[in-house]
Amino acid sequence: MSGRAVALVLAASSFAAGAAAAGEPVRVGLFGLLAPKELTLSATAGEVRLTPAGGAGRVSMRLSGQGLHVRAVGGSRLAVWGETAGRRLAERLTLARRRLEAAVAGAPAREVDGALTVSAAGGVLRVVLELPAPALAVESALVEREPGAGGEAVKAQVVACLSFVLAGRGRHAADGFDLCDTTHCQRFAGIVQSASARERAAAAAVAGLYLELGGRPLPAFYTAECGGKLERPSDLWGPVPAIFRSRPDPGCVRHDWTVVIARRDWQRALERAAGRRLDVPGPAAFEVKRSSEGSGGLVSAFAGSAGGRSVEAPFEAMAREVRAVTGRWAIRSRRLALFEEAGHVRLTGSGRGHLAGMCQAGAARLAAQGRGFREILAFYYPGAGLRHA
Ligand SMILES: [Zn+2]
Ligand SMILES: [Zn+2]
Repeated sequence: MSGRAVALVLAASSFAAGAAAAGEPVRVGLFGLLAPKELTLSATAGEVRLTPAGGAGRVSMRLSGQGLHVRAVGGSRLAVWGETAGRRLAERLTLARRRLEAAVAGAPAREVDGALTVSAAGGVLRVVLELPAPALAVESALVEREPGAGGEAVKAQVVACLSFVLAGRGRHAADGFDLCDTTHCQRFAGIVQSASARERAAAAAVAGLYLELGGRPLPAFYTAECGGKLERPSDLWGPVPAIFRSRPDPGCVRHDWTVVIARRDWQRALERAAGRRLDVPGPAAFEVKRSSEGSGGLVSAFAGSAGGRSVEAPFEAMAREVRAVTGRWAIRSRRLALFEEAGHVRLTGSGRGHLAGMCQAGAARLAAQGRGFREILAFYYPGAGLRHA
């Protein structure tokens, strides 16, 4: 690695095409996976704007120190009430940009800083936070950071996250926002309380910087740990820039992982992921399907058969269902083998995440060796240029 040409060019003052769009706020859909019906907002006193249900004009409500409750009622309506404010029906609730805490059942409360809009559809709340793209990238980077990663790795992560935000803007346009807050797009859990002052300072030093390739923000994929070999994600996400290819990550140590899952749990997860039951008595046989992409054939799907019937489920759907059934994130990467044992299925693999783009464990190691964030980015995203939003 030493002597490697650093292809990144810092162009902080030259605004690339699309830089205006890069400066636009971005809308994040919050709590989408939880399908919340009720939301509690806590903040210091202030005004809340309501668009009344079925009525013209807008009304304001005072937000008391005790907080405000919002519940989806009757499909697309909201019931809004506070300690002192009485109860109103509304179609929409908006809060100007302010720092507040938002909480729904089943998840820790999140502190957010931005303009919040709450509406409802099908009896479920839609909570959308609008905030500057660099601010979103910083919090995503801090929640995604490798534990103990040095400042330069944090900086590289912030740049990758902003690139991903800008490249992915509008992915959820049909849902009324730009990006979701899960790993489907990029994790976001509000302001990250566990970040140290040193990590915050590192993130702030690069806030607004992003990667560009061919005049467009780069979808800067990143993975927790590649296990010594990076993979090309095109069979996951369709056509991707050629810089993402299968190649070694020499600084990355391979850690194998093994999980054992009861056969009945595995079958239940597979049936749920496939949307179809095997529905025959007797033991099922399980196998993996491998894609032609990637060295050694990454797993693209899981299959099961019994009594002449078979079901098949895509990797991502199966990973989610195994987590739902067993309560843990058992399938850590697509580089794995499956072994059938009496009463169990054993998975053995290496790497964590989708194995493409920047390896966070590798980036942390490079930072520990004294590499700067530009060098780290140049290694994982060769040929991409650094720009300022
Ligand atoms: Zn998404
Ligand atoms: Zn790696």
